[in-house]
Amino acid sequence: MGRKILIVGGVAGGAGTAARLRRMDEEAEIIVFERGSYISFANCGLPYYVGGTIKNRRDLLLQTPEAMMARFNIEIRINNEVTRIDRQEKEIEVKGENGFYKESYDVLVLSPGSTPLVPPIPGIANPNIFSLWTVPDVDKIKSYVEDKNPRTAIVIGGGFIGIEMAENLYDLGIEVSIVEMLDQVMTPFDYDMAQILHENITSKGVNLELSNGVKSFDYQDGTTKVTLQDGKEISADMVILSIGIRPNGELAKAAGLEVNKRGGIVVDDYLKTSDDSIYALGDVIEVKHYIGREETMIPLAGPANRQARILANNICGAKEAYRGSQGTSVAKVFDLTAASTGYNEKALKAKGLEKKKDFDSVITILRSHAGYYPAALPLTLKVIYDMEGKILGAQGVGYDGVDKRIDVIATAIRFKGTIDDLKDLELAYAPPYSSAKDPVNMAGFVADNVLTGRMGSIDWDEIATLDPKTTQLLDVREAEERELGKIDPSIHIPINSLRKRIGELDKDKEVIIYCAVGIRGYIGARILMQKGFKVRNLLGGYTHYRRAIKDYSLKDVLGIQNAMSYGDQIKQNVESKAVIKVDACGMQCPGPIMEVNKKMQELRPGEVLEVMATDPGFPSDAKAWSIKTGNRFLHEERTPEGFKVSIAKGGEVAKSQGTVSGDNGTMVVFSGDLDKAIAAFIIANGAAAMGKQMTLFFTFWGLNILRKDSKISLKKSPIERMFGMMMPRGAKKLTLSKMNMGGMGTKMMQKVMKDKNVTSLEDLVNSALESGVKIVACTMSMDIMGLQKEELIDGIEYAGVASYLGETDAANFNLFV
Ligand code: FAD
Repeated sequence: MGRKILIVGGVAGGAGTAARLRRMDEEAEIIVFERGSYISFANCGLPYYVGGTIKNRRDLLLQTPEAMMARFNIEIRINNEVTRIDRQEKEIEVKGENGFYKESYDVLVLSPGSTPLVPPIPGIANPNIFSLWTVPDVDKIKSYVEDKNPRTAIVIGGGFIGIEMAENLYDLGIEVSIVEMLDQVMTPFDYDMAQILHENITSKGVNLELSNGVKSFDYQDGTTKVTLQDGKEISADMVILSIGIRPNGELAKAAGLEVNKRGGIVVDDYLKTSDDSIYALGDVIEVKHYIGREETMIPLAGPANRQARILANNICGAKEAYRGSQGTSVAKVFDLTAASTGYNEKALKAKGLEKKKDFDSVITILRSHAGYYPAALPLTLKVIYDMEGKILGAQGVGYDGVDKRIDVIATAIRFKGTIDDLKDLELAYAPPYSSAKDPVNMAGFVADNVLTGRMGSIDWDEIATLDPKTTQLLDVREAEERELGKIDPSIHIPINSLRKRIGELDKDKEVIIYCAVGIRGYIGARILMQKGFKVRNLLGGYTHYRRAIKDYSLKDVLGIQNAMSYGDQIKQNVESKAVIKVDACGMQCPGPIMEVNKKMQELRPGEVLEVMATDPGFPSDAKAWSIKTGNRFLHEERTPEGFKVSIAKGGEVAKSQGTVSGDNGTMVVFSGDLDKAIAAFIIANGAAAMGKQMTLFFTFWGLNILRKDSKISLKKSPIERMFGMMMPRGAKKLTLSKMNMGGMGTKMMQKVMKDKNVTSLEDLVNSALESGVKIVACTMSMDIMGLQKEELIDGIEYAGVASYLGETDAANFNLFV
């Protein structure tokens, strides 16, 4: 018989060490002590078993004591708790099923993990308050959910387990609130990145209480009332406590081993404790941060498993160093993926480092893969680096490909990579997976521009501190984008006009430029910098700024009004017995919503429309549409194919089939330019889909949009005939207002629209007519331009200005294009 090696803890670190030891040493006697009833279970999978994604409980149990014995000849003693270590005698005391006993060792390995924190809050022992850490924990939660059918839950703590639990309870149809003491969930992320998660979480109708802790719990008749620090009270049928963990270092401490302030066991580079015969690993140990080399604690499954291999090798004579942890992690947050590695800005500041002096960061918002390939979805990447360009950390949030980008950067960090390396990395590319310039390369390019001074950068939180006496804000987006929100006060010069209108800017003031995500801002910054302006570009553009400044802690009105519990949804679906499916994948706005509006008219009240779309804006459009039209927004979900939305047809009052009194709009279409005509018809179709009665009044050049494309021979004066020949005949012949370039620009635009599945102008006109949009040709302009009714498309009306003005009286918005 070889050496006797005892291992405390039989899950990630303990079971891993045991298996590796056996592979290295066939003679050793190996005994694992586990105080629980299960070894080697999938703790990371527990939340998904609650929600039903992992269906079979047995899938959580990766190993059994019998299987470990059969394959590895390792003795596993479950329900055996190690209660004391006697280093002098080299033996441990164990509380087994039949009482206490002792076991001697040559080598002892400690992998006791950590335990969820349960602070002494009044009422914390209430019967419907749960923590999730072990298989018995999950069994308790699962049977409570199945037996008691809770309709509401409060998750205390917005760490990754809390968020995973919130999502899984939500999937069960339970109305969930998350209470978090900090101003953000998911602490590995900086506040601005966490705000993307807040937006997503609240958009599901989940209530987010940030910067608010728990004062007390009161239990009555199956309900726990949670009183928060600010006095607010919320009640729920169940509470999940997930406020952090503490290392199980008591055993080691009592044995006189060196532990840190938090109770974490101190080990050397070879994972040996202050006793030569005792090793330790996993959540319980203090590790070196891989980048900064300072002592830290990073409780994650990956490090525990890698340490198990190193530690076992070292027990068997090797001298392998554990080189530290960098905290690479990933989590599913509803339909988003959030991943990070290395330091975030908060951690660097806590180390006493200063932004822009000791380190800096960039934000990029790009598509997960080539924009022209279906289901390309936004991915926000933040990369942090020191002033020499060494990468210090990264965070990513998006729908697709986030884990891959963070893993690439995590690897770069392992090899002491720099921003230059990110620029140079040759990464796999084909349209379904990436872009020829991968988001990781792009983050490198942007950071390189900042580091080399080719682009000045400014963060979202610096905007509020700007002094208008020395700075001027410049918005280079298009007018339509500005309608959706802007930073005030800002000068508006669309990027394509910047060269021409540069004189409108004050050269003595610094220009703070912004666009939607930062790309046009960069182009503008380069133009201005080369003309002698001092410029800073807003990182992540207006998109990142808007999200970062919003208060998601308040209930999202839209979400709350519309969120109905999934239980109700299922009930309603069952009652209605009808789910009609619509595929709107590949369609661009307003295509999917028009499709919804059309199909909804065929449904009876209570029936459910299930729509698949790839436009990321569709779920929020669908919510707004549902409110407007009196239908019931049921559910949204991100699937591999795109966004799935369910809407139940409202009762008789549902407005989707008709017009709401006073909810009318008019539009004067004066221009005959292709781009303007498309914009006019997109708005008209969208408004019609929202249940509004739209009247479009076509005058002067706008009449050309309504011309039939075939030549009609009519009696006309020579001037009228000439007009007729010179003007475009119908929607197909229109040209762009800008960049027409002798027709080339128009052709290019038509191709791009076709590639991107944007409906053509002809189709937009037809669907407007089908949706009941009133198209009126101005008879006075027709007369001036020599146009006759026979030349215009069918289904339209003819009227003069008085009738237009009459319509505007009844309308609550009037547009001019
Ligand atoms: P553990 O795996 O917890 O094992 C310790 C074992 O020791 C326990 O079974 C305990 O009962 C036993 N023990 C303690 N004291 C004694 C004693 N005195 N005598 C006998 N036995 C004892 N990490 C990730 O990286 N990604 C994730 O997605 C992720 N998700 C998670 C989800 C949940 C719900 C949980 C609970 C954890 C998750 N983790 C995740 C964390 C990860 O599981 C831990 O970091 C990892 O298991 C740590 O390994 P360990 O060996 O140190 O401790």
